Amino acid sequence: MKIDISCPRCGDGHGVQSVPAAHAEGVSTSYGTNLTTGVGISPSGLMPIVGTTTVERTHTTALARSLSMAPALRPVGRLVALGLVLLVPALFALAVFARALQQPDEVGLLSILFAAALVIGVLTMPSVLIFCIVVGRNRFNSRILRGRRAAHAVWSSALYCHRCGMAFWPFSPAPNIPAHQAFLPEHFRWFVWHAGDYVDA
Ligand SMILES: [Zn+2]
Repeated sequence: MKIDISCPRCGDGHGVQSVPAAHAEGVSTSYGTNLTTGVGISPSGLMPIVGTTTVERTHTTALARSLSMAPALRPVGRLVALGLVLLVPALFALAVFARALQQPDEVGLLSILFAAALVIGVLTMPSVLIFCIVVGRNRFNSRILRGRRAAHAVWSSALYCHRCGMAFWPFSPAPNIPAHQAFLPEHFRWFVWHAGDYVDA
């Protein structure tokens, strides 16, 4: 059986390219250096940190974005590191209270425990908030990763007509997807993301 790959809108096959190829043309990566400034925590107090980091930047054209197979995964590595660094003051406080607990006679055991719970609770709050964000991002990422295989089958079988700016399927890759019907990139992406079950993620 011969598959008709001509565009259903203009009837032409010359401006037609597979969606993965059209998408890849619009994505490029560059490397650069960023100046990083921040505040570090040392035993003597806060101290400024200045340094450089190598960064990888991904450039995506509007077309590539609207032909993307899935939303970008949300990074968690830096947030985890930040959450851990922000726990340092709580660890110092813990050490201070542990020492105080060894001589409880002066202020009383209960007041030390109460103060410890209060101070450590306040100091760990930023980390707790950050770890909540990490959990949310992980949930989002695993939802995307779960659906990518199904979305990929739909996405990779589609064609894109550069003359019309429309995407279409030469054959139906899934039951609810019509063949030989031209869709705007945004509409096309809805079908793909819907197949991956992350259209509303
Ligand atoms: Zn066309």
